[in-house]
Amino acid sequence: MQSDIVIIGAGHAGGMASILLRKFKYKGSITIIGDETYLPYQRPALSKGFLIGDIIEERLFLKSNSYYDDNKINILTKTIAESIDKEKKIVNLSNGKKVYFQKLILAIGSNVNKLDYKKNSRNLFYLRDIKDSLKIKKQLKKSSHVGIIGSGYIGLEIASAAKKLGKDVSIIEMEDRVMNRAVSLDISKYFQNKHEINGVKFFFNAKAENIDSVNNKIEISIKNRDLMSFDLLTIGIGIKPNTKIAKEAQIKCDNGIIVNEFCQTSSESIFAIGDCTYHPNKIYNRNLRLESVHNAVEQAKTVASYITGNKVPYNQVPWFWTEQYNSKLQIAGIIDQDAKFIVKGSLEDECFSVFCVKNKQLIAIECVNSPSNFMIGKKLIEGKKRIETKFLQDNNFNLKKFL
Ligand code: FAD
Repeated sequence: MQSDIVIIGAGHAGGMASILLRKFKYKGSITIIGDETYLPYQRPALSKGFLIGDIIEERLFLKSNSYYDDNKINILTKTIAESIDKEKKIVNLSNGKKVYFQKLILAIGSNVNKLDYKKNSRNLFYLRDIKDSLKIKKQLKKSSHVGIIGSGYIGLEIASAAKKLGKDVSIIEMEDRVMNRAVSLDISKYFQNKHEINGVKFFFNAKAENIDSVNNKIEISIKNRDLMSFDLLTIGIGIKPNTKIAKEAQIKCDNGIIVNEFCQTSSESIFAIGDCTYHPNKIYNRNLRLESVHNAVEQAKTVASYITGNKVPYNQVPWFWTEQYNSKLQIAGIIDQDAKFIVKGSLEDECFSVFCVKNKQLIAIECVNSPSNFMIGKKLIEGKKRIETKFLQDNNFNLKKFL
C-alpha cells in the first residue's frame, strides 16, 4: 500500500492532524494506522463523565465514520505499526503488510506506568483507553470499597466519580500531598480538602508493598498499616512517552521523541506530535514534554500547517484542566515550586486563582472556577509581562491592567 501521508496513532493528535490537513486543503492521500478498535476519540471524559454515565460513547469521537469516508482519510484500526524503515520510507504493519509514505507523522502517545504486579486480576485496573474505562465502569457498579493508588489527576477524577456513585473511596499516595508533581501547595490543599469533605480517605507517605488478589477482593499491604481490602483498585501513577518504534528507527529521542519547532524529528520527512514529543518551548527556554489535549491539538495544527506550506512555529503557553466534584481547575504555564505563589479570590466561595510569579514575571496560573482569570493569565504568561506582586495581592485590582 502507498499513502502520501501516513499517521501512526489514531488518538487525539493523530485524528486532529488528519482533520486539519483536510481543513487546510491538503489533496494527497492520508492513512492512519491505529492499534485500538476505535476511530480517534477524546480521552478526558474517560475518568470523568463517561465513567458515571453522564457522557455517552458517541460523544467521545472527534468525527463520525462518514466524515473520514467523505474526506478520503483511510483509517486502519486494530493495526499495529511494528517498525519504520526511514530510508525506504516504509511502515511495517502487524498484519505483515507494508505502507509506503512520503511523510510520516508519529502520534503514538504514551504508556501508563505499571506496578510490578504480574498476576491477572479481574478488579485491578489502569486507565488509558475506552476499554479500560468501560471495565472500570462495570466493576464500579458492583463495588462498595474502591482503592486508588496515586493521587494525580486521573486518580482524583476517578475518586470524584466513585464518590458521586456513593462508593467508599481510599487513596494511597507515596508523597505527602495530592497532585504533587504538577500544582502548588495551595491547590493541593484545596483539592485534598474537597475530597475529604466528600468522604475520601487519604493515606499519604504510603507505598503499596504487596498487592494480592484474594477471592473477589484486592488486598494491599502497606508498611505499618493494617491490610487494606478493596472490590476495585485503580492505579494511576503517571505515564511514559511511547518512543519504542522511533528509537528502533534511529530517530533521536530523550524524554520523548525530539522534535523542532515545526514538530519535525531528526529525520526530515518524519514528524511527531502529542504526548510522545519532547519539544522546544520559547516561553520557558527549554524542551518540554506535555500530556494534554491542548498540546495534542496545537502540534497537530503545526504539522498540518507546515505540510500545507504555512510554516508557523509551535509557540504555545501549555494549558490543562481537570474537573473534580463542582470544581474546575485550569492551569496555564508550568509551575515552579521555587516561585512565589499569590492567592487571589475566595477559597470559601470556591472561586480563586493562584499566581505563580518568578523574577517579576507570571510563569503559571492555577484557576479554580475562574475562567476569566485563566484567559488573562494565559495572555500575561505569553507576553512575558512584568508583574508587580503588590497589585496581585490587592483583591480589587483589575488584572486586565497588566495586559
Ligand atoms: P493518545 O490520545 O494516547 O493516542 C495515541 C494513540 O496511538 C493510541 O490510540 C495508541 O494506542 C496508538 N498507538 C501507539 N503506538 C502505536 C503503534 N505502534 N501502532 C498503532 N497505534 C499506536 N488532557 C487534558 O488536557 N485534560 C484532561 O482533563 C485530560 N484528562 C485525561 C483523562 C484520561 C483518562 C486520559 C487517559 C488522558 C487525559 N488527558 C487529559 C490527556 C490527553 O487525553 C492526552 O494528552 C491526549 O490524548 C494525547 O493525545 P495523543 O494523540 O498524543 O495520544
